[in-house]
Amino acid sequence: MAKILAIANQKGGVGKTTTSVNLAAGLAAAKRRVLLVDLDPQGNATTGSGIAKTGLARTVYHVLLEQHTVAQTRLTTPQAKYDLLPANRELAGAEVELVDEERRERRLREALAPVANEYDYVLIDCPPALNLLTLNGLVAAHSVMIPMQCEYYALEGLTDLINTVKKVRAHLNPELEIEGLLRTMYDPRNALAQQVSQQLTQHFGDKVYSTIIPRNVRLAEAPSYGLPVFYHDRSSKGALAYLALAGEFLRRREGVGVAP
Ligand code: ADP
Ligand code: MG
Repeated sequence: MAKILAIANQKGGVGKTTTSVNLAAGLAAAKRRVLLVDLDPQGNATTGSGIAKTGLARTVYHVLLEQHTVAQTRLTTPQAKYDLLPANRELAGAEVELVDEERRERRLREALAPVANEYDYVLIDCPPALNLLTLNGLVAAHSVMIPMQCEYYALEGLTDLINTVKKVRAHLNPELEIEGLLRTMYDPRNALAQQVSQQLTQHFGDKVYSTIIPRNVRLAEAPSYGLPVFYHDRSSKGALAYLALAGEFLRRREGVGVAP
């Protein structure tokens, strides 16, 4: 059965999508069967996976509204060999359309159940808000991975997210755990970043990945080619960092001696 991970942080621009796409590609390169769910109406994980988001007949929107199944909607990404449940702007309407529906925060969880045995990992790229879409991600997931930039307000935002996780655990998904905290876009020359990074490890101990994702221009460029960074520039610092993350993730999840 697949381990389902929500990649979440209500702050925008912290590296959720970059982490989703590149971790999906890293795990696929390590021969794990991966489904990436794009749960953001911006559709950046879709584009970044090499799928044109406009004009898609079926997206995760239709899955949430129970018009199509995951099996009918998923696509295989051209380069990286993981499956993708795509999204586009239409998804923005789902929140309003689901408001009076029953089980509205469980739609994704129920939709994923029939395909769970086809994957080792399902990664869910959440939108930058604690809204019904993110709630669907958290209710569907076994655990949540939190990418964050080490800046002044980061810890405050983290408190809100962790409180939301606690509420979800209490009311909707008792299994939900914190998978790990990932430091992204890290600049080691920045004193504040160092300080926040230290506070993070003090508070959260080994929940913080020892892999740190540096700021790297190749990571920012790769989506415009519709490629995970490994297929854009495999020797870049960004590619090496995400490869290291995939390795650390697998070691933590599956035990020692696993290399991607
Ligand atoms: P989110 O999904 O949290 O909104 P993104 O992953 O889309 O964040 O990242 C925001 C922007 O920063 C994107 O343009 C992305 O290409 C860029 N970016 C992400 N991670 C890095 C990094 N480590 N170095 C440089 N640019 C990055
Ligand atoms: Mg995003």
